[in-house]
Amino acid sequence: MKFDAQQFKEALTERLKRQYGKDITQANRHDLFDAVSASALELIMNNWMETRRQYDKKPTRQVYYLSAEFLMGRALGNNLINALIRDSVAEVLKEMNIDYNLLEDEEPDAGLGNGGLGRLAACFLDSLATLDYPGHGYGIRYEYGMFEQHIENGYQVEYPDNWLKHRDPWEIKRSDLAVTVKFGGRVAVRKGENGRDCFYVENAENVTAIPFDMPIVGYDTNTVNTLRLWQASSPNGFDLQLFNNMEYNRAVERQNSAENISRVLYPNDSGPSGKALRLKQQYFFTSASLQDLIRHFVHNHGTDFSKFPELHVIQLNDTHPVVAIPELMRILMDEYGMGWEDSWGIVAKTFAYTNHTILAEALEKWPIDIFQGLLPRIYQIVEEINRRFLIELRGKYPADYAKQNRMSIIANGMIHMAWLAIHGSFSVNGVAALHTELLKTQELKDWAELYPKKFNNKTNGVTQRRWLLSANPELANFITQKIGHGWEKDLSKLKQLEKFADDSAVQKDFLAIKRRNKERLADYLKVTQNEFLDPDSIFDVQIKRLHEYKRQLLNVLHIMYLYNRILEDPSFNPPARTYIFGAKAASGYRRAKSIIKLINTVAERINNDRRVRGKLRVVFVENYRVSVAEKLFPASDVSEQISTAGKEASGTGNMKFMINGALTLGTLDGANIEIVEEAGNENAFIFGLTADEILKIEKEHSYNPQKYLERNPHLAKVMNQLIDGTYDPTHQLFKELYDSLVYGIEGQRPDVYYVLADFDAYAAAQEQVAEAYTDSAAWAKKAILNIARSGKFSSDRTIEDYVRDIWKLKKVTVN
Ligand SMILES: *Cc1c(COP(=O)(O)O)cnc(C)c1O
Repeated sequence: MKFDAQQFKEALTERLKRQYGKDITQANRHDLFDAVSASALELIMNNWMETRRQYDKKPTRQVYYLSAEFLMGRALGNNLINALIRDSVAEVLKEMNIDYNLLEDEEPDAGLGNGGLGRLAACFLDSLATLDYPGHGYGIRYEYGMFEQHIENGYQVEYPDNWLKHRDPWEIKRSDLAVTVKFGGRVAVRKGENGRDCFYVENAENVTAIPFDMPIVGYDTNTVNTLRLWQASSPNGFDLQLFNNMEYNRAVERQNSAENISRVLYPNDSGPSGKALRLKQQYFFTSASLQDLIRHFVHNHGTDFSKFPELHVIQLNDTHPVVAIPELMRILMDEYGMGWEDSWGIVAKTFAYTNHTILAEALEKWPIDIFQGLLPRIYQIVEEINRRFLIELRGKYPADYAKQNRMSIIANGMIHMAWLAIHGSFSVNGVAALHTELLKTQELKDWAELYPKKFNNKTNGVTQRRWLLSANPELANFITQKIGHGWEKDLSKLKQLEKFADDSAVQKDFLAIKRRNKERLADYLKVTQNEFLDPDSIFDVQIKRLHEYKRQLLNVLHIMYLYNRILEDPSFNPPARTYIFGAKAASGYRRAKSIIKLINTVAERINNDRRVRGKLRVVFVENYRVSVAEKLFPASDVSEQISTAGKEASGTGNMKFMINGALTLGTLDGANIEIVEEAGNENAFIFGLTADEILKIEKEHSYNPQKYLERNPHLAKVMNQLIDGTYDPTHQLFKELYDSLVYGIEGQRPDVYYVLADFDAYAAAQEQVAEAYTDSAAWAKKAILNIARSGKFSSDRTIEDYVRDIWKLKKVTVN
């Protein structure tokens, strides 16, 4: 992008005057962040408009990524880097005595997602734009994103994330493109022109959906795609009549009810929600997005929709937007008078579905009464889809009633969204090789047999622009010095680093960079949390949502074990370690919250015990989010990826660690398998039961956790310390955790996630880590080889896979 320093300076000054009535000396940091962002957006705007013009000029096949979550993080640094103007902007600001880095920290994260699923959507948008593919995101402009996590007395406390408190300089409100979404009411019929029954809904609640656009700036290209987020509002505003009658609360009731739809992100991660408001959110943004696409299509092509599937592919990110399938049927039939067969012919060629989990409790199902009450016409359509589907099924498996029942989209009073997704999509993909295999052979076996050609794998990836170039500038520069530019858009180029893995000067440089990143993290945590970290210790890091299947509990039990051993055995002298955690627990997930309390309790004890000072430290990083992740990955030595095999669909944190030169300590789960396949077994620490072994145990019902306590007295002691007063004088705080592992409670099997079964193997792997770290040259070699072999895990590769197998897009060059 062309950058004129003088012009930028003037734009910035002008903006400060217009927006804040201030000159540069009066502006505070936030004013400056806002003005710099707005001035940068002005520069980007030409490319943004030109990109849209190119896509409109001739019919272009485009992908629309429908996702309830986009975990974007901050925009300023990323957009400037992708537009290749970050250094120039920083330079201009320096001339004006402004420290650019301080401005970046003024930007709140756009935390419109829970974790991996939402961050994947964000990485995909970055890759689509960078690779010059016409692809856009559609989602919800939550007024409050992921909650802000404070740790108070060791407990997680949630505060609202008021990220829009100041205006967001990156969004553009497009009131002219607002659409109406209808809820409730009653289905009615009238005779259409052709004598056909026309369905419509009477007495519905109308909600206005207003789009806000954010630019998705490709790296080193003119392409700027769009993330369009919908905000809900009431078409009538508040009720003046009621207000004049001094009924102030009732006067705004309808307005509030509409606005509540886009008020908050549900803070669940791979757990059930079942809230009617969540279904409202899902229909709200999918209906608005489809109406937007249809209006644009009709404007350009008229009402012959046969060309619609050639020009649109809609990727459904998990089941959250799956109600789009019946909604497109409704629009084509009820609004454009098409018949069922023709409409279904279009719908079945338009949608593709990504499955993100095999955890049974996370598969979305809606009770019929809630669904029908909220979306009466959509429910009718789902019933009809299912009626026709069951006829097909009976034809195919006439005698297999059990299978027909298992696969029915509506069954036992519930609508099964994953079944609707698979039936209504032309592609169904998992997100890592093992995950897709398990879908095909276990969870979705019936479906893979019925529709074998629909199933495919697309192993996740992450964008190296944010997670290496931007987050780890020193390492990025170093890589460029060694192998030149090019890796920014083709991560497989990192292969060329392999030849330096044995070079001791390169090893030293790598370790020095890692060390400075660790110092920077230590400085940050000193300022933000008053924590003292020793950069010479191993930074062993587990950062991800708190969930039992991710097994933070295994990690903390092992820390308790290490602590015991150091105290008991003076000759035991492992290298100094700092265990770092970052994790939010879903607000209603009690056991996850107990694990956070346990981590903090253990941290408090260990960090205040002089006997282990300089040997062992535990740090819980508050409010883990994208902008904090950007500081943590570059500073990590060890990447904890210790989920129960078979449970983590892919993981993407594991990839961010790898490209930043941390070594994986993990199970053979999700994309870990592909990571060690690339990195080489000798460059990772793999332990624990495999998915196959666990499957076998579950078939045989042969798991007995007590056995592991009898076998390992150290483990028995650690477990006992959960309830014997060592960490908690009341003996109560961690009793539930204890019981859930040893006895099984609330109708669950004991130790559902095989923490005790994997403990010994984990402890042994930790010993290997400690041993390996003492040989710094060998460690550096392993780390460099990990980086060199991380090319597969760029989201650019993932996007090319989607484009080739599912989306069939062509690149569009923007001049
Ligand atoms: C990458 C990322 C995740 C996903 O981490 P996993 O280890 O794959 O679960 C979650 N949250 C944030 C902020 C991330 O950047």
